Amino acid sequence: MMNETRKVIVVGGGPAGYTAALYAARANLEPLVIEGFAWGGQLMITSDVENYPGYADGVLGPEMMADFRRQAERFGAEFTTDDVTRVDFSERPFSVFVGDDEYRAETVIVATGATARQLGLESEQRLQGRGVSYCAVCDAAFWRDAHVVVVGGGDSAMEEAIFLTKFASKVTIVHRRDEFRASPIMLDRARANEKIEFVTNAAVDEVLGGDKMNAVRLRSTDSDETWDLTADAMFVAIGHDPTTKLFLDQLDHDESGYLVTQPGSTRTNVDGVFAAGDVQDHTYRQAITAAGSGCMAALDAERFLAALEGHEHAALAAPREV
Ligand code: NAP
Repeated sequence: MMNETRKVIVVGGGPAGYTAALYAARANLEPLVIEGFAWGGQLMITSDVENYPGYADGVLGPEMMADFRRQAERFGAEFTTDDVTRVDFSERPFSVFVGDDEYRAETVIVATGATARQLGLESEQRLQGRGVSYCAVCDAAFWRDAHVVVVGGGDSAMEEAIFLTKFASKVTIVHRRDEFRASPIMLDRARANEKIEFVTNAAVDEVLGGDKMNAVRLRSTDSDETWDLTADAMFVAIGHDPTTKLFLDQLDHDESGYLVTQPGSTRTNVDGVFAAGDVQDHTYRQAITAAGSGCMAALDAERFLAALEGHEHAALAAPREV
């Protein structure tokens, strides 16, 4: 089945995708958002969000994503709640496939995000938002005077552990080896911090607790011995993976698979294809920065479409409804 050619297709249903859709819809570009079967992105496994400006009393992650989606819908964005299975960016109009359905568009905004790597434990999943977290910047403040475990041995783990000491009374870094991937400077900073302890050669076997977590079961990677470590929260900091498998053969990316955009813009190496949010950002990874780059992508797409019609500068210079 082939639909008419759209002006804009947004791939991805997180803060970047919905913000791109909002701006594109308000520019009368009638965007189609192929938002993914599990729309909402990483915010769907977050409980309270307290650092998104405008939500003065905080908001639950899933509620915030529903708000974003509704706001884009209000201006005419359309949604397909399914996963993209293939794209063809070799010529314009571009093709985006969901199974056998082909959607075509003059511009595509890729906003498929990234996911925090998980340990892969059933108990970890069950206690997400109930002690198990993947973002210290987001959730550290909930753990004032608490004992918190950080899992990982890279720079993220050190950074998260150091950040958590602003709130927690004690932070234990659990790492599966006794050598660290973290840079020496980060490791030294963590070692020098009085609130941080290290448990090396240990893996998390299980997260313990009913409604809330209360301990982790550790297993020695040397002896297989297990023991329980009482803790109020566990931050998993073992890296992120961008959701870019579908695009790697067509869009420029770095060695970790993050899409590369031209500095100061959301342009990729394919004219008319833009990338926004965590799919192209492994540094900031915040809802607000993703939303900001979603806005940029919509404006870049708008300008690109205006240029096709011969009036590039009109797009952004034109008076804009507030
Ligand atoms: P990373 O460097 O890949 O480190 C991941 C860590 O998690 C490793 O220690 C790894 O253990 C461990 N790990 C992976 N899978 C695991 C599993 N299933 N169970 C237990 N442990 C597991 O990732 P990252 O720390 O997120 O850093 C990513 C990149 O961003 C790096 O280039 C880093 O330098 C950069 N970064 C920089 C800063 C900074 O400079 N301020 C801050 C954050 C990130 P093994 O070592 O045993 O494999």
